[in-house]
Amino acid sequence: MKKNGVYDFIFAGAGAATLQIIGQLLDDDNFATASILILERNSKKENDRTWCFWEPKENSSWNNAVVNSWDHITFASPEKILHESISPFAYKMIRSSKYYNSMAARIGQFPNVDMFFEEVNSFDENPDHVVVSTDNHNYKGTYFLNSILDWSVLKRQNNYPVLQQHFVGWYIKTGEACFDSKTATFMDFGVEQRGNTRFMYILPLSKNEALIEYTLFSKNQLKKAEYEREIRAYLTKKNIRNYIIEETEQGSIPMTCYPFSKHNTNRVLHIGSAGGWTKASTGFTFKFIERKAKKLIPFLRENKNMRLFEKRNRFWWYDLLFLDVLARYNHKGSFLFSRMFQRNNPVTILRFLDEKTSLREELRILRSFPVGLFIRQLLLRLVGAKH
Ligand SMILES: Cc1cc2nc3c(=O)[nH]c(=O)nc-3n(C[C@H](O)[C@H](O)[C@H](O)COP(=O)(O)OP(=O)(O)OC[C@H]3O[C@@H](n4cnc5c(N)ncnc54)[C@H](O)[C@@H]3O)c2cc1C
Repeated sequence: MKKNGVYDFIFAGAGAATLQIIGQLLDDDNFATASILILERNSKKENDRTWCFWEPKENSSWNNAVVNSWDHITFASPEKILHESISPFAYKMIRSSKYYNSMAARIGQFPNVDMFFEEVNSFDENPDHVVVSTDNHNYKGTYFLNSILDWSVLKRQNNYPVLQQHFVGWYIKTGEACFDSKTATFMDFGVEQRGNTRFMYILPLSKNEALIEYTLFSKNQLKKAEYEREIRAYLTKKNIRNYIIEETEQGSIPMTCYPFSKHNTNRVLHIGSAGGWTKASTGFTFKFIERKAKKLIPFLRENKNMRLFEKRNRFWWYDLLFLDVLARYNHKGSFLFSRMFQRNNPVTILRFLDEKTSLREELRILRSFPVGLFIRQLLLRLVGAKH
């Protein structure tokens, strides 16, 4: 299917962004003859991610992959515990291995898609194609969609603060019933903050099974033993002593407004976290990928210049200010998130984080934060001071 040895599209990485875009390309008859190559360095057989997101409860497009969903959330600060319905939304969970396997089976049915397990080392753009190099091959593609996140570009600049959402999670099974299986704990700030923004995130799968993640929004990762010590201490505090750890998960997600899209060129588009599709103030990415993928398909149909794909919106500015504040006052995360959850309806907050609120709703949410802190940061931004 390659034309003169050139693929129409080459994807680097076969994670959430590539697979969601591929899923939509395969659904579209316009791309039935497009030649596609996916290059991935790992076998993608293991469960390396648990993806959660909210969406209207009745949405069914992810039903085959969803393993659990919750209608209620808890938000806990040291002063107050909120237990709220998020109807009409549900908070849903996908295990990545299930999604990888189903997509691998689907891709296998399309002779126009090649998937090779090779590590991409570099790429080079020419006027009419891009050369993507692995140890043993140089592949040519008309367009290159790159989901390999390059942390070093973030480290080389200081115009935009870079935090990480980093965590270690344990899937545990307890001897007794310990959890409310209908309620996901979004953030429990009832842990020592130690100068950062630190919380527990709990997804109960049944009365005696849950994923418990010790999570930070901060600049630097901890040693693994520190996350584990905090999970152990938290479980002891909750009087959960009789448990086994069935599986573990660890991750780091970039939280930054760095304009990744400036690395896009005529033929190269950065996608997923590598393209800045992660919501900077929360780390949520999965549904943003879905939304971007839906926009990308008609865009690719037109064969447009990839530089024209990304558009900045006002939510980028909210995230930028929020991250400026959180980077400077990293210990204030508990206070800031508590104010937001205590003063606003959770469904409006979720719509706000989804970037689907009206300006009026946004002003109401923004008023829950200490105005002086944000105005000071805005002024610093405007006069060009670094965070
Ligand atoms: C553990 C974890 C849990 C997360 N949970 C959530 C969540 O609950 N909700 C949410 O919205 N977001 C979540 N995220 C954030 C985000 O949704 C995921 O990181 C998501 O997988 C991002 O998709 P992506 O395609 O950008 O990157 P990835 O899914 O990481 O895909 C990139 C792919 O590129 C491959 N790769 C890297 N380098 C090379 C190379 N040189 N050559 C070839 N292949 C390469 C990798 O192996 C990987 O498969 C989570 C992230 C992590 C790490």
